[in-house]
Amino acid sequence: MNNAEVREAAAQLFPGGVNSPVRSFRSVGGAPVAIVRGEGPYVFDADGKRYVDYIAAFGPLILGHANAAVVAAIETAARAGTAFGALTPGEVELGRRLTAATGLERVRFVNSGTEATMTAIRLARAATGRDVIVKFDGCYHGHADGLLVKAGSGVATLGLSDSAGVPQAIAGLTAVLPYNDVEALRTWFEEHGQETAAVIVESAAANMGLVPPSEAFLAALQLIPREHGALLIADEVITGFRLRYGLSELLPRADISCLGKIIGAGLPVGAFGGRAELMALLAPSGPVYQAGTLSGNPLVMAAGAAMLDALADGTVYRRVEELARHLEDALRAAIRRAEAPASVTRMGSMVTLFFRPAPPVDYAQARESDTAAFARFHRAMLERGCMLPPSQFETWFVSAAHSEAEIDATARAAHEAMREAVL
Ligand SMILES: *Cc1c(COP(=O)(O)O)cnc(C)c1O
Repeated sequence: MNNAEVREAAAQLFPGGVNSPVRSFRSVGGAPVAIVRGEGPYVFDADGKRYVDYIAAFGPLILGHANAAVVAAIETAARAGTAFGALTPGEVELGRRLTAATGLERVRFVNSGTEATMTAIRLARAATGRDVIVKFDGCYHGHADGLLVKAGSGVATLGLSDSAGVPQAIAGLTAVLPYNDVEALRTWFEEHGQETAAVIVESAAANMGLVPPSEAFLAALQLIPREHGALLIADEVITGFRLRYGLSELLPRADISCLGKIIGAGLPVGAFGGRAELMALLAPSGPVYQAGTLSGNPLVMAAGAAMLDALADGTVYRRVEELARHLEDALRAAIRRAEAPASVTRMGSMVTLFFRPAPPVDYAQARESDTAAFARFHRAMLERGCMLPPSQFETWFVSAAHSEAEIDATARAAHEAMREAVL
């Protein structure tokens, strides 16, 4: 099957032709390509075309595609059986690495970031005896009902500020504040502190494009909820093990931290953790129910352990940061040369090009971006063999499998694409 054949068959099988909305390329107005294979920094589509990949499976692949150590670990695990529904040594192997790297006293493995944040909220509600949660406009925490309120990511580009099918009774328990807005947080807690169970936040917002947090915002997040007896949930599903080995250190005083993506090395995973006495509220030791047929799956645990072993000495982080800085510089040069009304944000190996003159500080500003210009840029880059995330509001990821050669090629493509984008 070529690209068109896969696309047409998928359209008859899956709603919108995909199994996750952003893959439809709808927000960049193009036809999605079907990927048949990945190798290091590259993906290959069903027409045989090669692309330098910056989607990286939307975050997990910090070592690039089909990393040899990860693949070997999965192969070995698969030969011993794919699932048991029982305690396994593999869970201990990844659990030890995870707790040692993060300082979380207890963790629980789940199958997705969505499950991690959903359960973290259930835990926070049980721990505080309160119902209301606070999230920030444009932060995405997966697709649990109560978190699909003004979420970013695919929800952002589809223009669904709320999902249909979420009862008002549930959405009404989620308060939404602007990201990076200390005053809004303070005011919320002055007025509703006693009802609020938890604040959930992306330690660095990466689902409205990359919007770095201010120092003042990070400080307020770690102070204000605590003063009012509410918990802080750090959503590190993207940032965990992406910015450094372990949690990002942006919110070291969080009560619960959620992980996913990189710790599963491209297999389905999530995890959350915190202090032992708080985590003890979870079943079977406590009254908060949570379970999973495939949680702690042996293939996932083996892949995750291989990933963490490859990251532990920190070399990868220095390397990806250097490459991403190079990409950032190239994008800035392309913006200057084309006199484009665009800006770049970067943290470590995460990069976003916004078609907006100044980098946004919140979702309202991010949404002022010229998404039509981004769509033209995306198409022009795709033609030139660069696979960018198909939305203005997704972050680009540089992996350790990229090299200067790929970044240079991307820089040349970006110089040309920028002219087409701004016309
Ligand atoms: C991807 C993501 C999630 C959801 O993870 P899934 O595995 O897709 O369910 C949650 N929070 C953040 C910050 C994410 O980027």
